[in-house]
Amino acid sequence: MEPKQFKKVVILTGAGISAESGIPTFRDSGGLWENEPVEVVATPEGFVKHPERVIDFYNKRRQDALRCEPNAAHYALVKLEEKFGDNFLLITQNVDDLHQRAGSKRVLPMHGELLKVRCLGAAEHVIECKENQPEECPVCKAKMRPHIVWFGEIPFEMDRIYGELTSCDLFAYIGTSGAVYPAAGFRQVAKQAGAHVVCLNLEEISGGYTDEFIKGKAGEIVPKWVQTL
Ligand code: NAD
Repeated sequence: MEPKQFKKVVILTGAGISAESGIPTFRDSGGLWENEPVEVVATPEGFVKHPERVIDFYNKRRQDALRCEPNAAHYALVKLEEKFGDNFLLITQNVDDLHQRAGSKRVLPMHGELLKVRCLGAAEHVIECKENQPEECPVCKAKMRPHIVWFGEIPFEMDRIYGELTSCDLFAYIGTSGAVYPAAGFRQVAKQAGAHVVCLNLEEISGGYTDEFIKGKAGEIVPKWVQTL
Protein backbone atom coordinates (compact mmCIF):
# COMPACT_ATOMS: atom_id res chain seq x y z
CA MET A 1 0.00 0.00 0.00
CA GLU A 2 1.26 3.51 -0.87
CA PRO A 3 2.08 5.58 2.23
CA LYS A 4 -0.52 8.28 2.81
CA GLN A 5 0.59 11.85 2.14
CA PHE A 6 -0.46 14.40 4.71
CA LYS A 7 0.56 18.05 4.93
CA LYS A 8 -0.40 19.05 8.46
CA VAL A 9 -0.75 16.82 11.50
CA VAL A 10 -2.43 17.43 14.84
CA ILE A 11 -2.18 14.82 17.60
CA LEU A 12 -4.19 14.67 20.82
CA THR A 13 -2.87 12.47 23.61
CA GLY A 14 -4.45 11.36 26.87
CA ALA A 15 -3.51 9.41 29.96
CA GLY A 16 -3.28 6.12 27.99
CA ILE A 17 -0.03 7.17 26.29
CA SER A 18 1.67 7.47 29.69
CA ALA A 19 0.17 4.27 31.14
CA GLU A 20 3.09 2.08 30.01
CA SER A 21 5.46 4.57 31.63
CA GLY A 22 3.79 3.76 34.94
CA ILE A 23 1.49 6.76 35.39
CA PRO A 24 -2.04 5.55 36.13
CA THR A 25 -4.88 6.79 33.92
CA PHE A 26 -7.83 8.44 35.61
CA ARG A 27 -10.58 6.04 34.72
CA ASP A 28 -9.06 2.63 34.11
CA SER A 29 -9.15 0.16 36.97
CA GLY A 30 -6.38 1.10 39.39
CA GLY A 31 -6.62 4.69 38.12
CA LEU A 32 -5.58 7.38 40.53
CA TRP A 33 -9.01 8.88 41.01
CA GLU A 34 -10.28 5.69 42.62
CA ASN A 35 -8.79 6.79 45.93
CA GLU A 36 -9.42 10.51 45.70
CA PRO A 37 -12.78 12.14 44.96
CA VAL A 38 -12.65 14.20 41.76
CA GLU A 39 -14.65 16.96 43.49
CA VAL A 40 -11.84 17.38 46.01
CA VAL A 41 -8.67 17.14 43.91
CA ALA A 42 -9.84 18.43 40.55
CA THR A 43 -12.19 21.34 41.12
CA PRO A 44 -11.62 24.95 42.25
CA GLU A 45 -14.20 24.38 45.02
CA GLY A 46 -12.26 21.37 46.31
CA PHE A 47 -9.12 23.51 46.53
CA VAL A 48 -10.93 26.22 48.50
CA LYS A 49 -12.34 23.68 50.98
CA HIS A 50 -9.36 21.33 51.31
CA PRO A 51 -6.22 23.18 50.13
CA GLU A 52 -3.76 20.98 52.02
CA ARG A 53 -5.26 17.74 50.74
CA VAL A 54 -5.16 19.05 47.17
CA ILE A 55 -1.57 20.32 47.46
CA ASP A 56 -0.53 17.00 48.98
CA PHE A 57 -2.23 15.10 46.13
CA TYR A 58 -0.31 17.05 43.45
CA ASN A 59 2.96 16.85 45.40
CA LYS A 60 2.58 13.05 45.28
CA ARG A 61 1.66 13.10 41.56
CA ARG A 62 4.84 15.14 40.89
CA GLN A 63 6.99 12.68 42.77
CA ASP A 64 5.39 9.76 40.88
CA ALA A 65 5.82 11.46 37.48
CA LEU A 66 9.47 12.30 38.14
CA ARG A 67 10.16 8.60 38.72
CA CYS A 68 8.71 7.65 35.31
CA GLU A 69 10.36 7.73 31.90
CA PRO A 70 8.91 8.37 28.43
CA ASN A 71 8.02 5.22 26.47
CA ALA A 72 8.24 4.23 22.80
CA ALA A 73 5.01 6.07 21.95
CA HIS A 74 6.34 9.40 23.27
CA TYR A 75 9.57 8.92 21.28
CA ALA A 76 7.68 7.98 18.11
CA LEU A 77 5.82 11.31 18.25
CA VAL A 78 9.18 13.11 18.39
CA LYS A 79 10.06 11.41 15.09
CA LEU A 80 6.75 12.48 13.62
CA GLU A 81 7.41 16.08 14.66
CA GLU A 82 10.85 15.93 13.04
CA LYS A 83 9.19 14.92 9.76
CA PHE A 84 6.45 17.56 9.76
CA GLY A 85 8.22 20.44 11.54
CA ASP A 86 6.00 23.51 11.84
CA ASN A 87 3.13 21.54 10.30
CA PHE A 88 2.87 19.48 13.48
CA LEU A 89 1.19 20.14 16.81
CA LEU A 90 0.95 17.82 19.78
CA ILE A 91 -1.94 18.72 22.06
CA THR A 92 -1.83 16.79 25.30
CA GLN A 93 -4.36 16.44 28.08
CA ASN A 94 -1.59 14.97 30.18
CA VAL A 95 -0.05 17.05 32.88
CA ASP A 96 3.08 14.92 33.16
CA ASP A 97 6.14 16.12 31.22
CA LEU A 98 6.90 12.88 29.37
CA HIS A 99 6.37 14.33 25.88
CA GLN A 100 8.73 17.21 26.66
CA ARG A 101 11.30 14.87 28.23
CA ALA A 102 11.17 12.60 25.18
CA GLY A 103 12.11 15.65 23.08
CA SER A 104 8.81 16.95 21.68
CA LYS A 105 9.02 20.71 21.10
CA ARG A 106 5.65 21.66 19.63
CA VAL A 107 3.60 20.54 22.64
CA LEU A 108 0.51 22.29 23.92
CA PRO A 109 -0.40 21.03 27.42
CA MET A 110 -4.04 22.11 27.37
CA HIS A 111 -4.77 20.93 30.93
CA GLY A 112 -1.71 22.53 32.48
CA GLU A 113 1.54 21.13 33.79
CA LEU A 114 2.24 19.19 36.95
CA LEU A 115 5.74 20.61 37.24
CA LYS A 116 4.51 24.20 37.39
CA VAL A 117 2.60 26.13 40.03
CA ARG A 118 0.78 29.43 39.70
CA CYS A 119 0.25 32.17 42.23
CA LEU A 120 -3.16 33.45 43.24
CA GLY A 121 -1.97 37.07 42.99
CA ALA A 122 -3.24 39.37 40.23
CA ALA A 123 -0.18 38.70 38.04
CA GLU A 124 -0.67 34.89 38.24
CA HIS A 125 3.06 34.18 38.21
CA VAL A 126 3.84 30.70 36.91
CA ILE A 127 6.96 29.04 38.28
CA GLU A 128 8.62 25.66 37.87
CA CYS A 129 8.12 23.24 40.72
CA LYS A 130 10.08 20.01 40.87
CA GLU A 131 8.56 18.35 43.91
CA ASN A 132 6.64 20.07 46.71
CA GLN A 133 4.58 23.17 45.99
CA PRO A 134 6.15 26.26 47.66
CA GLU A 135 4.11 27.98 50.39
CA GLU A 136 4.14 31.34 48.65
CA CYS A 137 5.01 32.95 45.34
CA PRO A 138 8.74 33.80 45.17
CA VAL A 139 7.86 36.96 43.18
CA CYS A 140 4.83 38.52 44.97
CA LYS A 141 4.38 36.32 48.09
CA ALA A 142 0.78 35.40 47.17
CA LYS A 143 -0.47 31.86 47.88
CA MET A 144 0.04 29.28 45.14
CA ARG A 145 -1.96 26.55 43.41
CA PRO A 146 -1.11 23.73 41.01
CA HIS A 147 -0.89 24.94 37.37
CA ILE A 148 -3.59 22.44 36.43
CA VAL A 149 -6.90 23.03 34.66
CA TRP A 150 -9.60 21.70 36.97
CA PHE A 151 -13.18 20.79 36.07
CA GLY A 152 -15.15 23.97 35.50
CA GLU A 153 -12.06 25.86 34.26
CA ILE A 154 -11.24 26.64 30.64
CA PRO A 155 -8.28 24.74 29.12
CA PHE A 156 -5.34 26.76 27.81
CA GLU A 157 -5.05 28.16 24.27
CA MET A 158 -8.44 27.04 22.98
CA ASP A 159 -8.49 29.57 20.11
CA ARG A 160 -5.16 28.31 18.83
CA ILE A 161 -6.31 24.68 19.20
CA TYR A 162 -9.46 25.22 17.12
CA GLY A 163 -7.42 27.03 14.47
CA GLU A 164 -5.07 24.03 14.22
CA LEU A 165 -7.89 21.47 14.22
CA THR A 166 -9.67 23.15 11.34
CA SER A 167 -6.52 23.47 9.22
CA CYS A 168 -4.95 20.00 9.61
CA ASP A 169 -5.49 17.10 7.23
CA LEU A 170 -4.56 14.36 9.72
CA PHE A 171 -5.85 14.26 13.29
CA ALA A 172 -5.02 11.35 15.59
CA TYR A 173 -6.16 10.84 19.17
CA ILE A 174 -4.10 8.48 21.25
CA GLY A 175 -4.89 6.91 24.64
CA THR A 176 -7.80 9.15 25.49
CA SER A 177 -11.23 7.96 26.55
CA GLY A 178 -13.13 10.77 24.86
CA ALA A 179 -14.97 11.46 28.09
CA VAL A 180 -13.64 14.90 29.00
CA TYR A 181 -14.80 17.93 26.97
CA PRO A 182 -13.73 20.03 25.18
CA ALA A 183 -10.96 17.59 24.11
CA ALA A 184 -13.53 14.84 23.48
CA GLY A 185 -15.05 17.02 20.73
CA PHE A 186 -11.80 17.69 18.84
CA ARG A 187 -12.21 14.72 16.47
CA GLN A 188 -15.59 16.03 15.36
CA VAL A 189 -14.15 19.50 14.69
CA ALA A 190 -11.23 18.06 12.70
CA LYS A 191 -13.41 15.58 10.78
CA GLN A 192 -15.98 18.21 9.83
CA ALA A 193 -13.16 20.45 8.59
CA GLY A 194 -12.02 17.63 6.29
CA ALA A 195 -9.23 15.84 8.19
CA HIS A 196 -8.57 12.10 8.18
CA VAL A 197 -9.18 11.00 11.79
CA VAL A 198 -7.38 8.10 13.47
CA CYS A 199 -7.93 6.63 16.95
CA LEU A 200 -5.14 4.66 18.63
CA ASN A 201 -6.31 3.02 21.86
CA LEU A 202 -6.75 -0.26 23.72
CA GLU A 203 -10.46 -0.02 22.98
CA GLU A 204 -12.60 1.60 20.32
CA ILE A 205 -14.07 4.95 21.36
CA SER A 206 -17.76 5.33 20.59
CA GLY A 207 -19.29 8.44 19.10
CA GLY A 208 -18.10 8.35 15.48
CA TYR A 209 -16.07 10.97 13.61
CA THR A 210 -13.24 8.45 13.24
CA ASP A 211 -11.98 7.00 9.94
CA GLU A 212 -9.51 4.49 11.28
CA PHE A 213 -9.14 2.62 14.57
CA ILE A 214 -5.82 1.05 15.53
CA LYS A 215 -6.13 -1.23 18.53
CA GLY A 216 -3.36 -1.93 21.02
CA LYS A 217 -0.95 -0.55 23.55
CA ALA A 218 0.36 2.88 22.65
CA GLY A 219 4.00 1.79 23.10
CA GLU A 220 3.50 -0.84 20.39
CA ILE A 221 1.05 0.71 17.92
CA VAL A 222 2.20 4.34 17.83
CA PRO A 223 5.76 3.62 16.58
CA LYS A 224 4.36 1.30 13.87
CA TRP A 225 1.74 3.84 12.80
CA VAL A 226 4.29 6.67 12.65
CA GLN A 227 6.37 4.56 10.25
CA THR A 228 3.46 4.40 7.81
CA LEU A 229 3.29 8.20 7.49
P1 NAD B 1 -8.79 8.50 30.73
O1 NAD B 1 -8.25 7.84 31.96
O2 NAD B 1 -10.20 8.95 30.75
O3 NAD B 1 -8.67 7.45 29.52
C1 NAD B 1 -7.52 6.71 29.26
C2 NAD B 1 -7.67 6.04 27.91
O4 NAD B 1 -6.44 5.44 27.59
C3 NAD B 1 -8.73 4.93 27.87
O5 NAD B 1 -9.50 5.10 26.68
C4 NAD B 1 -7.91 3.64 27.77
O6 NAD B 1 -8.52 2.65 26.97
C5 NAD B 1 -6.65 4.12 27.12
N1 NAD B 1 -5.45 3.37 27.46
C6 NAD B 1 -5.07 2.88 28.66
N2 NAD B 1 -3.87 2.29 28.59
C7 NAD B 1 -3.47 2.41 27.30
C8 NAD B 1 -2.31 2.02 26.59
N3 NAD B 1 -1.30 1.35 27.18
N4 NAD B 1 -2.23 2.29 25.26
C9 NAD B 1 -3.24 2.96 24.63
N5 NAD B 1 -4.36 3.36 25.25
C10 NAD B 1 -4.47 3.09 26.57
O7 NAD B 1 -7.81 9.68 30.38
P2 NAD B 1 -7.96 10.94 29.40
O8 NAD B 1 -8.79 10.58 28.22
O9 NAD B 1 -6.61 11.48 29.24
O10 NAD B 1 -8.83 12.03 30.16
C11 NAD B 1 -9.00 12.32 31.45
C12 NAD B 1 -8.10 13.32 32.14
O11 NAD B 1 -7.04 12.61 32.69
C13 NAD B 1 -7.41 14.39 31.37
O12 NAD B 1 -7.93 15.60 31.78
C14 NAD B 1 -5.93 14.35 31.82
O13 NAD B 1 -5.49 15.63 32.17
C15 NAD B 1 -5.97 13.50 32.99
N6 NAD B 1 -4.83 12.63 33.35
C16 NAD B 1 -3.54 12.89 33.01
C17 NAD B 1 -2.52 12.00 33.36
C18 NAD B 1 -1.11 12.31 32.97
O14 NAD B 1 -0.71 13.45 32.92
N7 NAD B 1 -0.32 11.28 32.63
C19 NAD B 1 -2.81 10.85 34.05
C20 NAD B 1 -4.13 10.60 34.41
C21 NAD B 1 -5.12 11.48 34.02
